[in-house]
Amino acid sequence: MPGTPTNPSADRNQSPPCSGPDRILCVNIDLDDLRFYRGIHALPPEEDRPTIFEVAVPRFLQMCGRLGIAATLFTISDDLRWPTAVSSLRAAVAAGHEVGSHSATHCYDLSRRRSDFLDAEIAGSRKALEDAVGAPVIGFRGPGYNLSDALLGTLLRAGYTYDTSILPAPAYWAARAAVIGWMRLTGRRSSSIPGRARDFFRHRAPYVWGPVAPGLKEFPITTCGLGRLPLIGTTLASDGPMARHLVRSAAALPFVNVEFHALDFLDVEADSLDPRLRVEPALRIPLADRTAAFEGALARLAEGRRPARLADL
Ligand SMILES: [Zn+2]
Repeated sequence: MPGTPTNPSADRNQSPPCSGPDRILCVNIDLDDLRFYRGIHALPPEEDRPTIFEVAVPRFLQMCGRLGIAATLFTISDDLRWPTAVSSLRAAVAAGHEVGSHSATHCYDLSRRRSDFLDAEIAGSRKALEDAVGAPVIGFRGPGYNLSDALLGTLLRAGYTYDTSILPAPAYWAARAAVIGWMRLTGRRSSSIPGRARDFFRHRAPYVWGPVAPGLKEFPITTCGLGRLPLIGTTLASDGPMARHLVRSAAALPFVNVEFHALDFLDVEADSLDPRLRVEPALRIPLADRTAAFEGALARLAEGRRPARLADL
């Protein structure tokens, strides 16, 4: 059966990768360069600078340090062309953090590509990252949370032991599909794609994939509360009723997996960003307020939980 598990009974037949009474908090960040946001929002290209490695990664790691959390940094291996990227990732690994793959070039339609392209993106990025940081890379997050059976099989063959691309948030999928459709109707083309709908309706607890990638672990990004909203930087960026509701709802879950993006740790003024990037909701909140909201949420989520890197589960 391709793409299993797709329903609760199938999930119950799998062995959960993290067992026992442990309550676990995982924190990770996708190191998406600003060029990808420009593509999503159909903004014209700009000269590319390693801003996320120069300022966003250090800010994220400082926050993790204050909270005593070892995190996972999902990295696009093409960005290793910047010496700053390599040095900041090595510093992260030296401080106990994990580096995972976020593909080689972050093409949003990776899930639609053929096997030779998948090999280059998946096996190629793993080798490039391991060579650059000198540490094992065993985890993957797909660009745009998009998966396919072929992609999952390629992960397994390339030596990955886990994937963490599943975002079980039906409302997110519907909203993204609507925005992409609206942009097309109004003559703009987003680089993003709606993705495989059924992946956004899957289980929230960790599981192991069935025949399509036997033994590959899946650690879904946590979604919770009314509307099953994701625990991501965008929803945790202000200490308002929504973030507090999500954090309270997450308290009932044994496994909590919070996802940030590098953009969450940038500031339009302080980092001289294109003001048009304020189309991203997190960038409309002052960085100091945002960081305080993130820290407050993570501190509450960490109560009674063991922080762990995804690689350790
Ligand atoms: Zn990404």
